[in-house]
Amino acid sequence: MTSTAAGTSAEAREVAVRAEGFVEDLQDWLRIPSISADPEHHGDVARSAAWMADRLRAEGWPQVEVWDDTDALPAVYASWPAADPADPTVPTVLVYGHHDVQPADLADGWSFAPFEPEVVGEELRGRGASDDKGHLAMVRLGVAAHLAATGTDAPAVHLKLLAEGEEESGSAHLASLLAAHREALTCDAIVVTDTGMVGRDAPTVCTGMRGMVDTEIVFRGASVDLHSGQFGGAVPNPVTELARLVAALHDERGRVQVPGFYDDVRPPTDRERAAWAALPFDEPAWLAGSAAGARATAGEEGWSTYERLWARPTAEVNGLHGGYGGPGHKTIVPHAATAKLTFRLVADQDPARVLAGVREFVAAHTPPGIEAEVIAGGPGVPPLICDVDSTLVTTIREAMGAALGAEVLPAREGGSGPEALLSTELAAPLAFLGVMLPSDRIHAPDERAVLPLLLAGAEATAHLWRLLGARGL
Ligand SMILES: [Zn+2]
Repeated sequence: MTSTAAGTSAEAREVAVRAEGFVEDLQDWLRIPSISADPEHHGDVARSAAWMADRLRAEGWPQVEVWDDTDALPAVYASWPAADPADPTVPTVLVYGHHDVQPADLADGWSFAPFEPEVVGEELRGRGASDDKGHLAMVRLGVAAHLAATGTDAPAVHLKLLAEGEEESGSAHLASLLAAHREALTCDAIVVTDTGMVGRDAPTVCTGMRGMVDTEIVFRGASVDLHSGQFGGAVPNPVTELARLVAALHDERGRVQVPGFYDDVRPPTDRERAAWAALPFDEPAWLAGSAAGARATAGEEGWSTYERLWARPTAEVNGLHGGYGGPGHKTIVPHAATAKLTFRLVADQDPARVLAGVREFVAAHTPPGIEAEVIAGGPGVPPLICDVDSTLVTTIREAMGAALGAEVLPAREGGSGPEALLSTELAAPLAFLGVMLPSDRIHAPDERAVLPLLLAGAEATAHLWRLLGARGL
């Protein structure tokens, strides 16, 4: 890939002259352990928000606020209007990211101290280096480079920035945060930084994320465990019956058997399938590396691994429990069994409709003598899909392509996040721009970011503001 230093655009040059300061500054931020999952670190989340707000003010953002007026952990909001703040022909773009981080402890298997960031070669190592402080810092650098490259003191679009403080804890209060600040967050488009690419040799832009339905199924028989000699073979065994239900979730072709499960599924377009087929995929390397030694691929017949991960919905057994698991043996007919199941959804599946189908499936697979309960872990997360042909997405591909010196193909992510909520609540289309790599080890020990990619990402955002300002949305 073309390194930023070798880039020839004004934006590339302006990023390059700021690169050293960028890295030092980001290390400062990474020293704050803003772990949202741990109440003992909530003071650090507040410190991280204050740190970011200070930097934004110093960099000239005219409006900067720390939002701590809801139950959400402190979020940072900033806005920087274009030269004519009232010009309605200039699009308003909201950048979304998060400044909280996943928990990290040396004892989890880190080979360096997670909150003592260091540069090794072209990597910046430390918790949050990539997810997502590195990417928010990338956006700040991109704005500075954009202004310097265009010789102006206001961006080409009306820019807004929201850095959430509890994304890594499930964004439990994001809906109320968005509702409380609906007016400030009004925008024509949302650009999410909390995302990445398939690989360094495969620059991609994310154009969709899966949704999720989370359930626990309980099968109950007798009120207590029964003696297997006195009762075994004469009463239903909840573990056996629940195992039967779990086994019936998929047919022999790997298709999920929940009623109506595929009714609303929007298939990927032929162009998307062609783009995904053009991406490099080394199956043995993927199995050994990303998939941590998984022994084979598996899944729904007729779809490639990328298609299974990005465009097909799933049913996954996360846990199956019941009966005795201690030392020796205990001759019982267990009184209950539980299965934790999650379903990943794709456009245009509706979590509520899928959940209704799951209840129907469970009812149909509950034999006489068993009482079934389906516990939903909340309303579920809707899937998100971008309009791949929109000006927003094609301009992001162009901007990233200019910075990376390569064609940027559309791809998707198999995970779930608050993106559908953002897009729905703010009634604006959403797209992604980020340079995380699978090898960044986000959420895992030894997180790192590839510095030339963060710099290229900054350059890409600088191109993006210029291009969107010129062509609109
Ligand atoms: Zn993240």
